[in-house]
Order: sequence, then C-alpha cells, then structure tokens
Amino acid sequence: MPPNVASQDASVPPTAPTPDVIETSYDFAAELLSKLGGSNFHCGWWDSPEDPRSLAEAQDHLTGRAVADLAVGPGDRVLDLGCGMGGPALRIARETGADVLGVSVIPSHIEEATRQAAQEGLAGQVRFEVADAHHLECAEASFDAVVAIESLGHMDRPVVLPRLARALKPGGRIVAYDYFLHGSANAAQKAVAEAFRGIALLSEYPRPEQIAGQVADAGLDLLEFRDVTDRTSTPTYARFGQIFREEVAPALAAVYSEEFLQGFLDLFAGSDACGGPHHYTRWTARR
Ligand code: SAH
Repeated sequence: MPPNVASQDASVPPTAPTPDVIETSYDFAAELLSKLGGSNFHCGWWDSPEDPRSLAEAQDHLTGRAVADLAVGPGDRVLDLGCGMGGPALRIARETGADVLGVSVIPSHIEEATRQAAQEGLAGQVRFEVADAHHLECAEASFDAVVAIESLGHMDRPVVLPRLARALKPGGRIVAYDYFLHGSANAAQKAVAEAFRGIALLSEYPRPEQIAGQVADAGLDLLEFRDVTDRTSTPTYARFGQIFREEVAPALAAVYSEEFLQGFLDLFAGSDACGGPHHYTRWTARR
C-alpha cells in the first residue's frame, strides 16, 4: 500500500468541523448510531417504494451498490475516505480482491475496524489509519479509486478534492454518496436545512452546480450527478425518526427537554421528506 501520512502544515479550514468535534459527536451519538446502522454509518438504499428491505438490509444494499460502482478488481488500490467502522472497506476487499486503505478521524473506530480486519484474515489487504482528510498526503497516482460514503459533507471539498485528484491514477474514479441543497428550496426550507447542517456537522450545503464546480476545479471530470433522495435519505429518515421516537428519545429524556427532542424529530422530518431542501446524491468523477 502507498504511504499515507497526515501532515501538520496546513491549518484546518474554518468551515469543516474539527476532528475533535467529529469524534465527540460520534461518541455522543454512539447509542443512536448503533441502533441505526451497526457497522454502516450511512443511509439505506431501496430500489423502489415497494422494496421490502429493512433499514439494516438497505444499508448493506447501499454498500453493495458502492462496491459495484467502484468497478475495481484484485490488486487495485482503493481509498475509503471517512471509513466509519470499516464495514464498507472490508466488504470492498472481500468482494473485489482490491487493497483498501480506510481513513477516519475517530481513533476508536480505526481500532475497531483494524481488529475486524484481523479477525476476518484481511489484515494484509485492508489497512485503517487515523488521518484528517484535509491533511491527507498520499503518493501521487497511487489509487485506482476513491470511495466517500457520506463523509465529504463533513469536509471542506475545495481542500480535499484536489488531494483526492492527486492521489488518483489517471483514469481513476471517485464514487461519492453525498448531500446537496435542492435547487427549489425556499427561504423557510433553507432555514431548516441550515439547522440540520449544524446537527449533522456538515461543512456547507452546496447546490449541485457548486459541487460540479469544486470537482472541475480539482481537475476531475464529473461523470454523473444523480439525485437519489427518494431511494436513500427520504425512506431512511422516516425510519430514523421512528427508531429515535420509540427507542432513543426515552433514554435521552433524562438529559434533554421534551421540547428539544421534539425539535430534533421535527428537523429530521422537515429537512427531507415531501420535497424538502436536503437532498442526497450519488456522484462519480474521473481524473
Ligand atoms: N463511510 C462510512 C462512515 C460514514 S460517517 C460508512 O458509510 O459507514 C462519516 C465518516 O467521516 C466518519 O468515519 C468520520 O470520522 C469521517 N470524517 C469526518 N470528517 C473527517 C475528516 N476531516 N477526515 C477524515 N475522516 C472524516
């Protein structure tokens, strides 16, 4: 695997949450997240409104789609940017034979993912490292593909995308599952989106044309930008809301007021469902 060192020279841009904030929040939300995803910290994917998959099955299905999108094989090198608990990286290795490097800013997740890789006998093929994407320094042209599932939103894309472009071999691709602000959002919806942005620790809420511009500025060709909100975040948040109401809110009632918890639920419902401004995309780009 190529060397991958987090340099200390550049300062973290002000818009993206710092690694400390990311770690504290994910720790805080550990109980919620364990109920929502296990080793998948992302939305589900349902093929149609009639698709009977459970939330956990749909989350695995989204991972499976991402693996297929990468179109890599044995010996290829894949960077999993913002690798969570390592579920997707391990699956990429298992199903494609590629070598995978997963990076995240949460040390406990990296430890757990590393343990899991060893347990599955994949330690030679998958490596996990604590690294902040804003300071990522991979050898030039050292990866065949990059996957970023619901992680770029936490980052300052204009800083991170050029680093990814440099790390990719010519012709190598980025597969991103990402958020954007829907074009028709009115002022009230934008206010809801802004509140949701704060809770979800997103660095900004870009419109599609902003993402396209950031991708182009990084020297990448945008191959596809698909709005998949109705396959992913809308059905996911409906289920999150229900789980939060029934299983998580009662446990948090000792700490938070009923008003706060209700506000959180309203935010989830209002941010996404019924043509709300919070949209979800699968985009791909090529160096
Ligand atoms: N891709 C994983 C996890 C998504 S959650 C999955 O689909 O299961 C978002 C991930 O982004 C977390 O692992 C978090 O630690 C990581 N992340 C957030 N900011 C980061 C940064 N600046 N550098 C590296 N990873 C970051």
